[in-house]
Amino acid sequence: MKVARSAELFARCCVCIPGGVNSPVRAFRSVGGDPLFISAGDGAYLIDADGNRYIDYVCSWGAQLVGHAHPAVVAAVQQAATNGLGFGAPTESECRFAETLVVAIPSMEMVRAVSSGTEATMSAIRTARGYTKRDRIVKFAGCYHGHADSLLVAAGSGALTLALPSCAGVPSNAVADTSVLPYNDTQALSDYFAAHGDSTAAVIIEPIAGNMNLICAEAEFLQTLRTLCDQHGTVLIFDEVMSGFRVAAGGAQQLYNIQPDMTCLGKVVGGGLNVAAFGGRRDIMQSLAPLGDVYQAGTLSGNPLALSAGLAVLDIILSEGFYPRISENAKQLTATLSAAATAAGVDFSCKSIGAMFGIYFAAQPPANLSDAEQCDTARFPQFFHAMLANGVYLAPSAFEAGFISAAHDSDTLAATKIAAEKSFAEIAT
Ligand SMILES: *Cc1c(COP(=O)(O)O)cnc(C)c1O
Repeated sequence: MKVARSAELFARCCVCIPGGVNSPVRAFRSVGGDPLFISAGDGAYLIDADGNRYIDYVCSWGAQLVGHAHPAVVAAVQQAATNGLGFGAPTESECRFAETLVVAIPSMEMVRAVSSGTEATMSAIRTARGYTKRDRIVKFAGCYHGHADSLLVAAGSGALTLALPSCAGVPSNAVADTSVLPYNDTQALSDYFAAHGDSTAAVIIEPIAGNMNLICAEAEFLQTLRTLCDQHGTVLIFDEVMSGFRVAAGGAQQLYNIQPDMTCLGKVVGGGLNVAAFGGRRDIMQSLAPLGDVYQAGTLSGNPLALSAGLAVLDIILSEGFYPRISENAKQLTATLSAAATAAGVDFSCKSIGAMFGIYFAAQPPANLSDAEQCDTARFPQFFHAMLANGVYLAPSAFEAGFISAAHDSDTLAATKIAAEKSFAEIAT
């Protein structure tokens, strides 16, 4: 595999971009080696700057659910661009976008579009604080909610990959009101609420966590969380930036049949462009300016070009049969990977939910962050590089989930099977 062009571009970027990348996990630090520069995406495939082709299981960190450069999405963006790139005034696409979300996710009675998942969670927290007139918030260890100061403690994703327990530059008083609890620990949750429930504005959680590898909340844990928030007047925020429209049309809240007070969306809803959203109960959302006294704004919020991609994707994925089909494809993928690991005698487990999956170098999937950290994380970089050499692009970190798109079909599955059999055999020796 020739990667001379990627290497040259990376060297140039390292001169003028910190670490050579515009988002840390892209740098391959936790797996070693230099990142590939991507020149194009085509359905289930990425093509790098040297012309190598890979089956893509990152899918733009989950944002690409219909596959790269889907013709209908490309056409929608081209059409929107013809009409102008943005006006800083309301457009019909914002109306259609909001209407689509509130129908798909009934707990969202009102919704605001923003430009990134970070903005969505940050704004949801501010809204919950303004609504409850309380300051304290709770997050769970290993969950990632973007890089707003108050949420950047015991965070998953890149912060975890780089072993940053806390982040320099975040003043201690910015996180003074943030409590961190262990994921899936009902007792710790009850103890916390007994002591601080009545002064807690919000609990934010990834109901299906994808930033400490894939870890699903236990149903009883989430149910207890819902009950405790109700008892104490605390706003329950589901951060479904990753799980929204990926695990099911109605997100994790549909699968668990638990309604949060607020929901954050991102990734899939932007179809690969800069769109995210937050929303929830009407009485809470009415706290926002210009109705209420919680200020939140954005020059590019609800940008018509970006929304055109999101709307085109939503149109495809909300069609009959989409989720059963893609969930079945993800199941076949995990079954294939497990069989290849077993054949090679490698300790391995994996699972999928909807169109996302987790692979673990451990006999059992983890239930929380400390379990995830106990997986054989030294094995992962070997497997990552073996798969890459065999034409499969996985997330360059043992703590990220994997993603498929609707373009991943029986051909990509067959090719992945061959790559996995070779790769497990290589790392088993
Ligand atoms: C990706 C992600 C975010 C942050 O979204 P950005 O668009 O990267 O700011 C927040 N929460 C979760 C669960 C995510 O997966």
